[in-house]
Amino acid sequence: MRRFTGSELLVATHNQGKLDEMKHLLDPFGITVTGAKDHNLPEPPEDGTTFVENARIKAHAAAKATGLPALSDDSGIEIDALGGAPGVYTADWAETPDGRDFDMAMRLTHQKLIETSAPTPHTARFCCTLVLAWPDGHDEVCPGVMEGQVVWPMRGDQGHGYDPIFQPDGYDITFGEMDRWEKNKISHRARAVAQLVKLFGDG
Ligand code: IMP
Repeated sequence: MRRFTGSELLVATHNQGKLDEMKHLLDPFGITVTGAKDHNLPEPPEDGTTFVENARIKAHAAAKATGLPALSDDSGIEIDALGGAPGVYTADWAETPDGRDFDMAMRLTHQKLIETSAPTPHTARFCCTLVLAWPDGHDEVCPGVMEGQVVWPMRGDQGHGYDPIFQPDGYDITFGEMDRWEKNKISHRARAVAQLVKLFGDG
């Protein structure tokens, strides 16, 4: 296992919601977090078929382009009644010619679930894979999962992405209704970060 000993971490994402969450999660470690836009990085094609493959593509591209250790996050929601979809295609379900529309993606998800006639609860999980890559090609992989169910209608206006239709196990509110601090304590990303911080100096 290779430790991260720097003071600045480049988070290889163009997604402001993810960047904000990572900044918040890494705040206690006194590390300066910058994003892909701060380094004018292009978005590499995410053509992997697993979260790990896509996270590796993003982290290695950013590390190579900047000469800095780079952290990437590939994440998404797996819904059992849809055979694990949208999975690595979670963001793609929101694509429109004018940008991402998660309201549309959540309606599409609901429509597909109705078509399956699968009984509730519609069990699902948010998955997050963090990859920390160094410019010399080494990487460390940190996975995190949060089990729960997809609910309808959408509830809450906190968070981002599919948060309004995901109710984590042990809660009767969705991620969209949850205070950011609370979500960041229990989320798939928080669990992956718990693995990641083991790589930091005294982690
Ligand atoms: P990607 O990792 O950039 O390919 O995108 C993953 C997609 O999964 C995001 O665009 C969100 O739609 C969704 N997603 C990942 N994590 C979360 C979360 O914590 N809440 C809501 N949606 C999420």
